[in-house]
Amino acid sequence: MTSPPSPLRLDLDGAALVANWRWFAARAGRAACGAAVKADGYGLGARDVTRRLAEAGCRDFYVATWGELDALGPLPAELGVSVLHGVRAEDMDAALASTARPVLNTPAMVARWREAAGGRPCDVMIDTGMNRLGLTPEEARSGLLDGLVIDTLMSHLACADEPESALNERQLFVFRGLKGAIPARRYSLANSAGVCLGQRYALDLVRPGLGLYGGTPGPAAAGRLAQVVRPHAQVVQARSVPAGATIGYGATFTAPRPMRVAILNLGYADGYLRAFGGNGHALAGGVACPLVGRVSMDLIAIDVTDAPDTGEGDWLALAYDLPAASQATGLSQYELLTGLGRRYLRRWT
Ligand SMILES: *Cc1c(COP(=O)(O)O)cnc(C)c1O
Repeated sequence: MTSPPSPLRLDLDGAALVANWRWFAARAGRAACGAAVKADGYGLGARDVTRRLAEAGCRDFYVATWGELDALGPLPAELGVSVLHGVRAEDMDAALASTARPVLNTPAMVARWREAAGGRPCDVMIDTGMNRLGLTPEEARSGLLDGLVIDTLMSHLACADEPESALNERQLFVFRGLKGAIPARRYSLANSAGVCLGQRYALDLVRPGLGLYGGTPGPAAAGRLAQVVRPHAQVVQARSVPAGATIGYGATFTAPRPMRVAILNLGYADGYLRAFGGNGHALAGGVACPLVGRVSMDLIAIDVTDAPDTGEGDWLALAYDLPAASQATGLSQYELLTGLGRRYLRRWT
């Protein structure tokens, strides 16, 4: 027996996803434009995102782990996939059975790959100042990498979303210095925000994630990228609330007047976190209706007094413009995407 349809849904705009990727590809000039699809395509569904971007011409994809690579399913041979967290000993069987490349981050990973994979290509991450993942420039220059077939030598920017940060130029300078010293087919530094810093940062290949999914990675992208993700939820119950009554856990909201309230099938377990309390909105028949009271695990209350026809079973769209929602809630645009969870039906249009 098949399950009944979910009472919550993500509408995913495939044309917007592709348009956003093309925007980055154009900004990157002659550099190739890849796509970060880790964390299940930032919550949208990595398999669908990868297929759609591959059809648009994207050839380089980034996942975090070998398990995420598996979740992409069978891939056409012309696609390159890199596994950002590299290879642990327990990843080696999977890595050797796959055509994906590990991004080697540590001397132990380099040794492991050299020993088992011979001349098979890999990527290498250099830490140029973020102090997160990667070999130090000194390790990279020490001869450790001699003889490896490096497809992409990469580094990652710590502050690309702050164009005025001096760390951006410093990381670019360090990375450019390595270009002459370490042979690789391609050199890559920029994430979404890095592309916005200008073409000097694009090098041979850029790796946007956030911006593909409608996030605004920096001032240069403001207003340029289209919203891709729109959560919708069905009304479980619509009720009248008299003036002076309270709504929800903690009785934090008191109705200032008689109200109509719609209870939606969506809550913090769906990534709609409590930070939306006092900030969230839903659209009912084109009318923006505010969230009232606390967000529950599986439910929220929406004041639909101005959209009084709203009733049980209706679908409402949640306001989910990423920069605006991030501003309102204090949650990062990344958290707003990757927290969305498994209960939505993901519907591409
Ligand atoms: C996640 C990630 C990206 C994409 O970053 P965005 O900020 O989402 O564009 C690029 N490169 C690396 C190494 C990453 O980990």
